[in-house]
Amino acid sequence: NLILAFETSCDETSVSVVKNGTEILSNMIATQVKSHQRFGGVVPEVASRHHVEIITMLITEALEKAGVTYQDLDAVAVTKGPGLVGALLIGISAAKAVAMAYNLPLIGTNHIAGHIKAANLVDKVEYPALALVVSGGHTELVSMKTPSDYEIIGDTRDDAAGESYDKVGRVMGINYPAGKTIDEMAHQGSETFDFPRAMMKEDNYDFSFSGLKSAFINTVHHADQVGETLDKNDLATSFQSAVVEVLVHKTVKAIAEYQPKTFILAGGVAANQGLRQALTEAINQQFPDLKVIIPPLRLCGDNAAMIGAAAYQQFLDQDFSDMSLNAEPGLEFPYEGE
Ligand code: ATP
Ligand code: MG
Ligand code: FE
Repeated sequence: NLILAFETSCDETSVSVVKNGTEILSNMIATQVKSHQRFGGVVPEVASRHHVEIITMLITEALEKAGVTYQDLDAVAVTKGPGLVGALLIGISAAKAVAMAYNLPLIGTNHIAGHIKAANLVDKVEYPALALVVSGGHTELVSMKTPSDYEIIGDTRDDAAGESYDKVGRVMGINYPAGKTIDEMAHQGSETFDFPRAMMKEDNYDFSFSGLKSAFINTVHHADQVGETLDKNDLATSFQSAVVEVLVHKTVKAIAEYQPKTFILAGGVAANQGLRQALTEAINQQFPDLKVIIPPLRLCGDNAAMIGAAAYQQFLDQDFSDMSLNAEPGLEFPYEGE
């Protein structure tokens, strides 16, 4: 089974060929970060234009790199949401064009299911599984009894983890997206600020990061007002330590209750070295028999291979879309089939 997959939900244009939902034959990723940096965030119109300009070339490259032709394909998959409507539509149009021209089934895929299924490209997922999804727009604990069954057991009440990195980064004058830079700075400082850890004691799997963000911003503004210079690395260390501590705490609690056979770390913030290390340590210590899948960095951020991996399960489930497939910018999770 060969799936040609598209991902254009935000500021990465990506086209991939995935074999049997597990093997990456190619995974071309063109990032637009440079174009958005001077605006301090992703500008939707700019994102759409870049997707249009480059997507045709990426299809050619993805097929060439994979050593396959259109005739070899079994299906075409594309992110249908959540994401920016104009950006999603570019991928959807391209996918429809290929599906129509080569008479291939079309699969509309949930972007967050994609982040989770990136695990399949790394190792075999045994079910029941539990995933911590941490990205620019989501912070969720997801329980899966089977490969097609997603249940959100915990969610953020306000900001997503990645969003909080980007917001405090802005206050420190760090280029968007700030996650990677703050992660690097965090390893050079020490925890001198005592930032709040929200919802640690509450009996649920929910998160909240807006209080932490406010505390961070207040600390920086207060220092500005009194003319004090704060060590940015120490700020980064203290911030990251608070984020990681709550993520690890809730995850460990969820593993203890749900007893999954596999734990998956997913999403752009899964690239965070502090989080990867702390989670691995906590799990190894408390659940030594649990299988842990933490994808390599290039599969944590947005990419089309993860969409191909998720779409393969939909292919098995015969969960196809027709030519009326539309962008669903606010698509909820667990997703509903067409
Ligand atoms: P979503 O997947 O929720 O729709 P998105 O696709 O925009 O949102 P991703 O691309 O999955 O988000 O992740 C991007 C986010 O990951 C950004 O907020 C970025 O700052 C963050 N990020 C990337 N690397 C790191 C890191 N090393 N540490 C912390 N955050 C990181
Ligand atoms: Mg991105
Ligand atoms: Fe994403």
